[in-house]
Amino acid sequence: MKTACRKEIMKEYLRDESKQTGISDRILFPETEEDIMRIFKAYPDTPITLQGARTGVTAGCVPNGGIAVNMERMNRILDLTYNEDGGTVTVQPGVLLQSLRRHIAPLGLFFPPDPTETTASLGGMASCNSSGARSFRYGAVRGHILALDIVLVGGTKLHLVRGRKHAEGNQFQFVTTCGRLLKGTLPSIRMPEAKKHTAGYCLRPDMDLIDLFIGSEGTLGVLTSIKLKLIPQKQYTWGGVLFLPDEASALKLVRMLRGEMGNILCLRPEALEFFGADTLTLLRQAQREKTVLTQMEQIREDACCAVYAEYASDNRALMEQAFEQTCQAMEAAGADPYRTWAAINHYHMINSY
Ligand SMILES: Cc1cc2nc3c(=O)[nH]c(=O)nc-3n(C[C@H](O)[C@H](O)[C@H](O)COP(=O)(O)OP(=O)(O)OC[C@H]3O[C@@H](n4cnc5c(N)ncnc54)[C@H](O)[C@@H]3O)c2cc1C
Repeated sequence: MKTACRKEIMKEYLRDESKQTGISDRILFPETEEDIMRIFKAYPDTPITLQGARTGVTAGCVPNGGIAVNMERMNRILDLTYNEDGGTVTVQPGVLLQSLRRHIAPLGLFFPPDPTETTASLGGMASCNSSGARSFRYGAVRGHILALDIVLVGGTKLHLVRGRKHAEGNQFQFVTTCGRLLKGTLPSIRMPEAKKHTAGYCLRPDMDLIDLFIGSEGTLGVLTSIKLKLIPQKQYTWGGVLFLPDEASALKLVRMLRGEMGNILCLRPEALEFFGADTLTLLRQAQREKTVLTQMEQIREDACCAVYAEYASDNRALMEQAFEQTCQAMEAAGADPYRTWAAINHYHMINSY
């Protein structure tokens, strides 16, 4: 197991995308589950901060003293099974989302959660219950996790399979792989009804206990392997940034695309995301400074906000029909459909603003 104590190496691992910098005595890089168990035995009273790929924006992996345990060397795909209806993959926590995608795409498989930053690790994504644009259709990562291996504080192991172990009311108990019984009471906290909610522990009476660990941000144990559900990859993806004159038009458009004003679309959107006025200001500035989107036309000054919509299908004609229907919805919302950046399969431009 590698240890980093040298100042220049340490510095890099003391921060994440929140840009906060922490402090730590040393950083350890376990390569096996046994390494992690050894760490817990060697440092029984030391605060331990777990790190995935450090793409988090809330400093969850930034150590505040003690030691940091970085999972980047546990980066193997352990098992993959599939057929034409989808499949499952078991990964070590340090596997990056982009590596998983590269591995499964040639097999016609797709892992829907997309927290934008593809260099995030699957361990970090599970620990944050991360979501993203496609959560509109597929929910957060939680719903795509079938099983977890966990090393608990103290070094005992736990294997949890979705659907197998539930709390009884607010009472829960686990038997670790070495036969130790762990019991507890779940705090009674009312979870918000919001569709997209990832703050804090997931706590519900009678809950599936695997969900206690998903989204627990490394506070309950180390995720050492994660079994994920995969679905078949659709052949075509259409993505469009739809520019709008005001927020009222954006709301109307979103309600139409969500089907709240009648069934106007032949396909259900994979993703719907809102870009406010400040985001467009930043984009305009970046375009002027030629740092991003240089091939696209400048965003016009009268565009106030934008909605990103995405469709996917194996039937290209159906997808083009959804694009036409989206243009009609833009018109009905008071926007000009020619004010659209659009791409098919992420690289081939079909229409420009
Ligand atoms: C440009 C950008 C856009 C982003 N957009 C989104 C978005 O749309 N939606 C979204 O949800 N997030 C988004 N993020 C945040 C980030 O990518 C996710 O939170 C990601 O899931 C973190 O993964 P990571 O591997 O970088 O974890 P880290 O940042 O290293 O760690 C995150 C947390 O997980 C814990 N952890 C890591 N590995 C383990 C493990 N094996 N066992 C137990 N605990 C562990 C850490 O202790 C920490 O608390 C974005 C980030 C960037 C930079």
